[in-house]
Amino acid sequence: MAKALGYAANHSFSRLKPHEFEREEPQAGEIEIEVLFCGVCHSDIHQVKNEWGNTVYPCMPGHEVVGRVTRRGRGRAATRSATSWAWAA
Ligand SMILES: [Zn+2]
Repeated sequence: MAKALGYAANHSFSRLKPHEFEREEPQAGEIEIEVLFCGVCHSDIHQVKNEWGNTVYPCMPGHEVVGRVTRRGRGRAATRSATSWAWAA
């Protein structure tokens, strides 16, 4: 496990606050990314405000990121998919 830091909401009307959490080690076919930039889209806002009724808190918005690969799991990592994911908007 590795410590990670992000910004999360603790309930539907809270501001985002620093949130420390544990990440699993990258497994085969996975990569670890150091997030350099992160966008927050309208879907993230719906999720933070629980407007779809399925939010689990703490909720850490921001699924559109640009980052640097820092570690790879064993085997062939899916770097191409991660790149596509990072550029998806
Ligand atoms: Zn989005």
